[in-house]
Formats: sequence, C-alpha cells, structure tokens
Amino acid sequence: MKVIDHLKRASGTLFSVEILPPLKGKSVQSIWDILDPIMEFNPSFIDVTYHREEYVYKKRENGLLEKFSIRKRPGTVGICSAIINKYKVDTVPHIICGGFSKEETENALIDLSFLGIDNVLLLRGDAIKSEAQFIPDANGHHYAINLVKQVVNMNRGIYVDDELHEVSPSNFCIGVAGYPEKHSEAPNMKSDLKYLKAKIDAGAEYIVTQMFYDNRKYIDFVNQCRETGITVPIIPGLKPITTKKQSITLPKTFSIDLPDDLLDEIEKCKTDKEVKEAGIEWCVQQSKELIQFGVPCLHYYTMGNGEITCSVARRVF
Ligand code: FAD
Repeated sequence: MKVIDHLKRASGTLFSVEILPPLKGKSVQSIWDILDPIMEFNPSFIDVTYHREEYVYKKRENGLLEKFSIRKRPGTVGICSAIINKYKVDTVPHIICGGFSKEETENALIDLSFLGIDNVLLLRGDAIKSEAQFIPDANGHHYAINLVKQVVNMNRGIYVDDELHEVSPSNFCIGVAGYPEKHSEAPNMKSDLKYLKAKIDAGAEYIVTQMFYDNRKYIDFVNQCRETGITVPIIPGLKPITTKKQSITLPKTFSIDLPDDLLDEIEKCKTDKEVKEAGIEWCVQQSKELIQFGVPCLHYYTMGNGEITCSVARRVF
C-alpha cells in the first residue's frame, strides 16, 4: 500500500521508522534484530536508506596507491523486499541522484515495480567525501526534482528509453525530503521552500523532515510551507540523542541546532547511560507534543538501534 493511502486512512498519528541496510558482509539477521521488537508497535511503513559509493585508496605491492570505489551498505532493494516478505509491512526504498544515470534509475525502478514496492523517497544525495560539492553522474540528475519528474513520467508510461512500445506505467507514491532548519546549501529558507514546493508541484505526495530537536522549528516550517502553498502531509523525523558524542556530531552532520535546554540536560549527565535516558525522555516529550499538534505520522530514525526507538514508542503509542 502507498504511504499516502496510509496517511489518508489514518484516524490518529501513525508510527514509522527508517533503517539502514546492513554493512557489507553482515547477514540480514542484523535487520531482524532491529525490526523484530519494533513490530510490536505496528509501523505503517519502513524506510530503507540508500548509500552511494565511496572512494578508498589501497596500497599496492609496488608502494603506489590504487583508488577503489566501494559501497559499504549495499542491499537497499533486497532488504525492502525481504521486509515485505517477512513482516508484510510496506517499505520505502530511498533512491538518490548521485552515482546513477537516468537509465540506471529506470532499471532500479523496474526492479522495484516487479517486487511490488509501491513507494519511493526521492533524494539528491550528498557529495561523496572526496568531492567538495555534489556532482551528478554524466547522464544523471542534479536535483531531487529531476528524479521526481522521471518517476512521475514513468507513472504515466513515459520511459527514458523512448523506443519502447506498449509499456506498462509504474504506480509509485513519491516522498521527498524537507528541512525545518533549512538545507545546508540553501542560501536562505525562502529559496529552500521554493525548491521544496517545486518538488511537490512536480508530483511528490508527501514530505519527510530532517531530524530536529525543537518542535517550534517544525511548526514554523509547516506554517511556512502552508503559506508557500505546499498542502501535502509533512511527516516529522525524530532521533533520540544517546551519547554525548552525538550532541556534537549530529548538528555537524545534519546542519541542525540543539536547544539550550537539551544541551544543559546532556551536559549534566555523567555517563552515556544517563545521556540515553535524557535523550529518550526528550524524544518522548517531543513526540507527545507533536501528536497534540496533529502530525500525520511520527517517523523515527533508528540509525542501527531499534531498542532505543522501542523505548520511545512504548511511551508514546
Ligand atoms: P534537493 O531537493 O535536490 O535540494 C538540494 C539543495 O539544492 C537544496 O539546498 C535546495 O534548496 C537546492 N535546490 C533544489 N532544487 C534546485 C534547483 N532547481 N536549482 C538550484 N537549487 C536547487 N541521503 C542519502 O544519500 N541516502 C539516503 O537514504 C538519504 N535519506 C534521507 C532521508 C531524509 C528524510 C532526509 C531529510 C535526507 C536524506 N538524505 C539521504 C540526505 C539528502 O540526500 C541530503 O540532505 C542532500 O544534500 C539533499 O537532498 P534533497 O533530496 O533534499 O535535495
């Protein structure tokens, strides 16, 4: 079932999660270990992230360095299909522009269609570590909106390969990303909202937000979206802070701010066990307030830790 239909049929706030595919070489059991306890809370859908290639240098016998392209977490499509098979829960594979030509994207979408996957979250992806800015594939997309247009076209039976005859249209529900604290590269919020609206006007049906720790930022973002003419559901993304280190790394990695009160709580903690408790408490309070605000769904970033998500869900749902 499509995410948009879950949202339309819901009588209250839905619960959903995002997981990462296992590290290359790990078994699918690592995913079941995360998801088995989460299933108690009946997630409406499960997002599976996509991780593009990275470049590493390995020393050869002659002492010279050789550049290799590696993908540390392959398997997004396989994991989505395995989840549907095991739990009968809808999945949302993330598809990115980076590293894909339009034709490769088309072929990936055909695989998803054959597997009965109805949903995609379409993203640009970040620059790879060795590049200062995002560089698209020579025959790929520069922005997520171009990916949205490709999938909308395919839903209308228009393929990149225009020599096909009597094609079968796909039927994907399209989600896109939104940033309550602005995307790091956007010159200002107005510009970011303009491009977000363009993704919706092109055919995206809902938005999932970057994580945030101050509900005011989400509420202001929703209000600004509505003023801009964006009417689709805006799903808040949440991630409890569980270590002191994360209070430094998460703001840096995701270009977000932590509220003073949260930072004060974390600074008071003597151990990471205490930070985990404080982080879960903060996320529970955020979740309850967002439900009061009337959000359509609460979407939790598990980041490899299902037990933390369960600790929050147990007190919220
Ligand atoms: P876009 O919508 O293309 O926007 C990128 C930037 O360009 C923004 O600053 C925007 O304002 C600007 N812009 C957009 N269109 C135009 C235009 N036409 N002209 C000029 N400027 C423009 N990354 C992964 O690699 N894998 C994942 O699985 C993944 N999942 C994510 C899930 C969520 C919910 C979120 C919020 C992010 C996720 N990301 C993922 C990270 C995402 O790929 C990065 O944040 C990326 O930098 C931007 O992606 P986007 O789709 O928002 O890009």
